[in-house]
Amino acid sequence: MKVLKFGGTSIGSAKNIDKVIHILDNYSKEDALICVVSAVGGITDKLLLAGKQAQNKDSTFLDTFNTIKAIHFEIINELNPDNNKSIINSIENRLNDLKNLLDGIYLINELSPKTSDKLVSFGESLSSFIIAETIKNRSLSVALKNSQELIITNSDFTKAEVNFNITNSNITDYFKSATQQITILPGFVANSTMGEQTTLGRGGSDFTAAIVAAALQVKQLEIWTDVSGMFTTNPKLVKQAYPIKEISYQEAMELSHFGAKVLYPPTVQPVLDLNIPIHIKNTLKPEAAGTIISNNATSAAFPVKGISNISNVALLTLEGSGMIGIPGFSKRLFETLAQEKINIILITQASSEHSICLGLDENNSEAAKTAIDKAFENEIALHKIDPITVETGLSIVALVGDNMKNHQGISGKMFSTLGKNNINIRAIAQGASEKNISAVIDKKDIKKALNTLHEKFFETQIKQLNVFITGVGNVGERLVEQIKQQKKYLNENLKINVRIIGLSNSRTMIFNEHGIDLNTWKAQLSAGRKASLEGFFENTKALNLRNSIFVDITANQAVANLYPNYLRQSIGVVACNKIACSSDYENYRLLKRLSLKYNAPFLFETNVGAGLPIIDTLNNLIASGDKITSIQAVLSGSLNFVFNNFNDTTKFHDVVKQAQEEGYTEPDPRIDLSGVDVARKILILARESGFEMNLEDIENNPFLSESGLKSDTVDDFYQTLIKDEAHYQQLFACAKANHCQLKYVAQFNNGKARVGLQEIPEGHPFYNLEGKDNIVMFYTQRYPEQPMIIKGAGAGADVTASGIFSDIIKIGND
Ligand code: ADP
Ligand code: ASP
Ligand code: MG
Repeated sequence: MKVLKFGGTSIGSAKNIDKVIHILDNYSKEDALICVVSAVGGITDKLLLAGKQAQNKDSTFLDTFNTIKAIHFEIINELNPDNNKSIINSIENRLNDLKNLLDGIYLINELSPKTSDKLVSFGESLSSFIIAETIKNRSLSVALKNSQELIITNSDFTKAEVNFNITNSNITDYFKSATQQITILPGFVANSTMGEQTTLGRGGSDFTAAIVAAALQVKQLEIWTDVSGMFTTNPKLVKQAYPIKEISYQEAMELSHFGAKVLYPPTVQPVLDLNIPIHIKNTLKPEAAGTIISNNATSAAFPVKGISNISNVALLTLEGSGMIGIPGFSKRLFETLAQEKINIILITQASSEHSICLGLDENNSEAAKTAIDKAFENEIALHKIDPITVETGLSIVALVGDNMKNHQGISGKMFSTLGKNNINIRAIAQGASEKNISAVIDKKDIKKALNTLHEKFFETQIKQLNVFITGVGNVGERLVEQIKQQKKYLNENLKINVRIIGLSNSRTMIFNEHGIDLNTWKAQLSAGRKASLEGFFENTKALNLRNSIFVDITANQAVANLYPNYLRQSIGVVACNKIACSSDYENYRLLKRLSLKYNAPFLFETNVGAGLPIIDTLNNLIASGDKITSIQAVLSGSLNFVFNNFNDTTKFHDVVKQAQEEGYTEPDPRIDLSGVDVARKILILARESGFEMNLEDIENNPFLSESGLKSDTVDDFYQTLIKDEAHYQQLFACAKANHCQLKYVAQFNNGKARVGLQEIPEGHPFYNLEGKDNIVMFYTQRYPEQPMIIKGAGAGADVTASGIFSDIIKIGND
């Protein structure tokens, strides 16, 4: 004999009930079956809602009732299109009883726990009847037995305790003489010894099945639901979760106690002593292996078996110097809560005995506070203890595994993983058995916590980076394309999964929590909602994803102003925009501090030399103990392009225009030609070398004509280039006469920096610098005479995009 239980979703529609009958038909050829069924999915909630509405004199309870009625009728008609008269008649009678009960609640304005149990029992009563009759119509050997005649409890309504002596003998007596191949039993419902209708607690159909399985000592108990087993964590919140093949009773119990709803916690107890395995299966995918819960669960490669969570938790703290060393405080505290029938989920006590912290269901927190304050009235009046404090809006996340005790450092890894993702831990509990490590965190962080911990403990191989890009112009577009192209390589070789979650240009923005489809991103973006910098930040923050990275590919001051907001949320910042790092020194320091404090990387390699590894090299030199003495550099790809192409056969204006059109200059070319851009770059290098400096400290010898320097707009500026052509030809002629090349050079020496156009003689490393190339020479204590040189393309959309990309990957590799 086998016991199978089908949950609400398994019988939530005619189509699914068909699947259930198909499974029963197959199985019953080999064995007699007992099939425990829940109410149709969502009906218990609707019954309770109708009850509440009626109690509150809200006549919409009739609408709710009609919905319940319609759901059942639709199922009956679909399952039994030709032969449903007698089923409909019986169901109508039952629904009339339900309607009368609701009318009664409406009239007297009261819904006691006793009436509530009577009310919700309709759910299982209706579903079991419909299923039994449908199976009968298909000519299988079936009988419906009312569990209320078998399972006997005390009168603790809504979650009654089973009297196993009476129940077990009722069950064995009944099945001794039962001859049908399939017995349908409603789950969840029972009767008290006084003959009142009771229930076993929400989700209690699992328990019904376990009680029957244990009473009859069957070979196996099967719980059929809407997912393929007990997962490593809640699959609705973590996409990467996967079914656990085998798990011990203790682990399953612990996971379900801590929120894995797939199994009602008391279910394990009756079958545990008898060693009856529980098999969790998926009605919608019967071929999937599912999970076996038993004593023989082999220990997995991962010491952590699963992660679960409970939402809506309140933390109650009892504190005071009067508690220290005085026995009996805890006993009184727990007794008080027991008297109020309040369940404690988690307990922590500091070793100083100065405080005790309890985790409870949020709904019980007020009652708990009132009861405890009253119980300790005297001590509070004498200031021996403080009035109890209650914090709400919390959740518990728990790691579970029998084998955790044999592995060091699991709690350390858990807490550091949460900390790195800016998830604040309010309390910690770890039982001496070390089967469970729990942390109390803010409710809003739960999804992030589960995903981060799952990644850490179950997907060690793949790290997910969630990228939010602002500024998808020329460079941004290349970056998106590069990410798309490299996705597979990164996944396979570096075990990094880069997903773009947010994209924005100056007009529109889009978000997709599961990753934007990079084949259609352009069309999606142009149909996106109106862009705003604040809106982009607020959305990124609200998504609260682990390993989030904000990427700034603008040259916009307002975007740079928001970096602190991102960093404070532990969102990494990768900036191509130089404004932040070349702004006031205090701001630069602040960003560095925030990056450290919130464990949020702040990387800006492309601020100098586009994709060339200049800042990275500098950081490595310093980190390994070297000291920078001098820097000589040509740092402007755009100015290099301009002076390499400008000569006595070309026009200065035309060359500048070409540089802008090919994307080598900033959007405003004056920033390059005035030397400001190069000054910013040498400033950043000086700061990264450990010097405290501001932009005003950099000597700038401009080469532009007076009117060029004073131009108000970009158009005016171009006009001055035409007008002052002679001025620029003069610069070229002088250099040529001296057999020199014109290069715009940045220098840093003994704490002083300057930028300006220089005539470079033949033989100098800068002389042959081509196209838009950059060159940096670092003179350091270790490289005093022959400098460390980095040279290569220092401008262009592709190389800049790849520089940003490598900053992103660097974060992934950390
Ligand atoms: P049923 O109606 O079949 O009793 P439940 O809704 O009670 O189903 O339980 C199944 C649900 O439990 C799943 O759909 C899933 O959302 C949730 N769940 C939470 N944690 C887990 C977990 N660790 N493994 C599987 N399911 C889980
Ligand atoms: N129908 C009940 C509930 O929704 C029992 C169950 O489904 O297990 O809680
Ligand atoms: Mg359930």
